[in-house]
Amino acid sequence: MICLGIEGTAHTFGVGIINDEGIILADKRSIYKPSRGKGIVPNEAAEHHKKNSKIVIEAALSKADLELKDVDILAYSCGPGIPLPLIFTANFAIKLSKKYRKPLTKVHHGIGHIEIGRLTTGAKDPLVVYLSGGHNSLLALVENSYKIFGETMDITCANLLDVVAREMGLSSPGGPEIEKLAKAGKYVELPLVIKGMDVSFSGILTAAIKKYKEGIPKEDICYSIQETCFAMLTEVTERAVAHVGKKEVLLVGGVAVNKRLQEMMRIMCKDRDGKMYVVPQEYAVDNGVNIAWVGILAHKSGWKADFKDKILPRWRIDEVPWFQT
Ligand code: AMP
Ligand code: MG
Repeated sequence: MICLGIEGTAHTFGVGIINDEGIILADKRSIYKPSRGKGIVPNEAAEHHKKNSKIVIEAALSKADLELKDVDILAYSCGPGIPLPLIFTANFAIKLSKKYRKPLTKVHHGIGHIEIGRLTTGAKDPLVVYLSGGHNSLLALVENSYKIFGETMDITCANLLDVVAREMGLSSPGGPEIEKLAKAGKYVELPLVIKGMDVSFSGILTAAIKKYKEGIPKEDICYSIQETCFAMLTEVTERAVAHVGKKEVLLVGGVAVNKRLQEMMRIMCKDRDGKMYVVPQEYAVDNGVNIAWVGILAHKSGWKADFKDKILPRWRIDEVPWFQT
């Protein structure tokens, strides 16, 4: 069985094609880049997706050496995400499904990030640390859904990195730039806020920008943000692992590729006789393969999104009944 998955919740329009053995047949994407100094402008992202959708899907089909009629099922990212790009993506997928008479599955974007992580790393039943633009959560599968054990109380870590980078005139996305500059930095104190298994980053945001404006070098800001945020994330992950009783930690989402974060998490896992897994860089960020793989898993298990809405911008992951195969 072959599934074609379409991702379009935010900046990326992606089409992935995968078979039921988990073999990736194609992965094509186009990424909307906001103009310098701006975050995602919703109608610009939707316009970007509209402009590039045909090129991306044709490129994916050509890479897989398939035509749409050869694909068995379709899947699209139904949420959570930004309404305008979500609507375009949903309409695009629904039109294809009708035209080619293929079953269509609605996919939770976050489950895509997790399941591609399990597929590509071999992690079986991990505590998932999901750090993307829109998510900052500790998750684990308990009683047939991914339950949230810890979250951010305000902005996400990714958000913090991007906003501070923007304030310092670095290019977008900010995470990789911050990681580079941090190598030459030294520590300045930033507020570290943890409540139970939740974290807060807005105080760090305010303090980092203030320190930068007072003349602290960019390198020191970058180093200190990484040390503070990643120490917080590692600490709450350790609490969650102990609480839920899992032996594996799986890092997913765009921030997961950060080497310093991986290092801290690896040390923590080793201390607890556990194992850390990281989703490969190319699948850490948004892409259509994530969505296609969930399409396959859902189809195999008979799972269906039994609701009418074609988009769910605020769809919570613990609202999705799930399973593990
Ligand atoms: P996603 O929403 O999963 O596509 O993740 C996007 C986020 O990942 C952006 O906020 C990026 O700044 C962040 N990111 C990408 N690479 C890195 C990195 N090397 N270190 C930290 N954050 C990163
Ligand atoms: Mg994402």
